[in-house]
Amino acid sequence: VVVVGADAAGMSAASQAKRLAGDDVEIVAFERQQWTSYSACGIPYWIAGDVDGPDALIARTPEEHRRRGIDVRLGHEVVALDVEAHTVTVRDLGSGDVQAHTYDELVLGTGATPIRPNLPGIDAEGVLGVQTIDDGAAVLSWLDEVDARTSGPARAVVVGGGYIGVEMAEAMVRHGLDVTLVDLAAQPMSTLDPDMGVLVREAMEGFGCRVVTGAAVDAIETKDGRAFGVVAGERAFPADVVVLGLGVRPATQLAADAGLWLGDSGGLVTNDRQQVVDADGALVPGVWAGGDCVESFDRLTGGRIHVALGTHANKQGRVIGTNLGGGEATFPGIVRTAISKVCDLEIARTGLREKDASRAGIDVVTATVESTTRAGYFPGAEPMTVKALAERGSGRLLGVQIVGRAGSAKRIDAAALALWNGMSARDLAMSDLAYAPPFSPVWDPVQIAARKAADLAESP
Ligand SMILES: Cc1cc2nc3c(=O)[nH]c(=O)nc-3n(C[C@H](O)[C@H](O)[C@H](O)COP(=O)(O)OP(=O)(O)OC[C@H]3O[C@@H](n4cnc5c(N)ncnc54)[C@H](O)[C@@H]3O)c2cc1C
Repeated sequence: VVVVGADAAGMSAASQAKRLAGDDVEIVAFERQQWTSYSACGIPYWIAGDVDGPDALIARTPEEHRRRGIDVRLGHEVVALDVEAHTVTVRDLGSGDVQAHTYDELVLGTGATPIRPNLPGIDAEGVLGVQTIDDGAAVLSWLDEVDARTSGPARAVVVGGGYIGVEMAEAMVRHGLDVTLVDLAAQPMSTLDPDMGVLVREAMEGFGCRVVTGAAVDAIETKDGRAFGVVAGERAFPADVVVLGLGVRPATQLAADAGLWLGDSGGLVTNDRQQVVDADGALVPGVWAGGDCVESFDRLTGGRIHVALGTHANKQGRVIGTNLGGGEATFPGIVRTAISKVCDLEIARTGLREKDASRAGIDVVTATVESTTRAGYFPGAEPMTVKALAERGSGRLLGVQIVGRAGSAKRIDAAALALWNGMSARDLAMSDLAYAPPFSPVWDPVQIAARKAADLAESP
């Protein structure tokens, strides 16, 4: 087995295959960086100072993988695939040597590439991304350098208000920087409906982050090769550091160059065993893929969608490893669940937003409720807002969004399971969920929102 990319998907596949098949399988994993099985998810919290890094972010070191019998080759980039001849061409980034390796089974876990628009100044020093452990280290060392250079508070502009941008904005504020977040959308966190995103904006402004929305970045201003500002929507924002959080695209150039078929998002397409298929649905023999480089089956629409999350990468990798190790496993799909936080505001969503439902031609009703994380009279009760979406007429649950203080967001899991099982909003409202005053009001806020959405959906 040859694995390309030694992080979540690739090494979950390798580890599971080794666990099941032992010495019956020989595995070589090529990784162009110097890390294996690292948590990119922890990078914003490392930069914020909540967790140590980088070693603490490594779930399993290259040495640990090798002790389990996986031949990990760091600093090795796969530069070409030949899926007819079953070979990969690998460049040793240290020596420059290029060699071909044959495989019986190929696992593609090449991840995603951060979007870096071709703007004037984008390559200036101080314009930083946060995709890898090395990126995290580069941000921290740049912040040290900036601290040493500036007398007042240094200025950061975060471009993009998705969950990584929002998490990075918090990290920068906690570093003592003067932070502006710039986003093209009407509100930050456009994975939520705008009426929920506005709550995120208010919380960010509450902790001192300037939020500029509806503004496209036109250029990075530079001086002597360094960034000193961001121009967006005819305004200029001074910046000693610019952090890019504009989302990612599947890293599939290698696969495309080898003639593999890509879906609309540019991600590889697989069957439910994570075997790569062509445009006719026929298997590409011996090629498997998982994680950020693939599209996932969307249980809500029956289509495919690219959702770059570690939770899917780990599961898809395990599915591949189980199948390669002689077992049988399938990946059952996703319902678009995600969770995040900014300072003490928790943010979660599952299912469709209003605009997703309209795009799919579904007539949607919505109900939004303000409630509390515990019984209102119980000490420590915190505010939370829940929005539920249901289909008019049928009452089918379509989605739930939560924004609130500590104890709010993980409640999304009950809604995600309801969606997973195709339940109605009424079913979710009447489900036997846990209640006692220290944990929830007698009607859980998710159930209140679902009940109201059900009432609306069922009303003539
Ligand atoms: C800042 C940040 C925060 C995140 N937070 C969360 C979160 O809270 N929750 C969540 O679920 N997800 C989160 N994610 C997403 C999550 O990290 C990714 O979905 C996950 O890492 C994807 O795993 P993967 O194995 O598919 O790809 P990656 O982790 O990107 O790994 C791909 C690997 O392949 C290597 N590679 C690529 N091409 C080649 C080649 N040609 N030759 C050799 N090696 C190659 C790369 O160097 C890389 O190490 C976050 C991501 C970031 C960046």
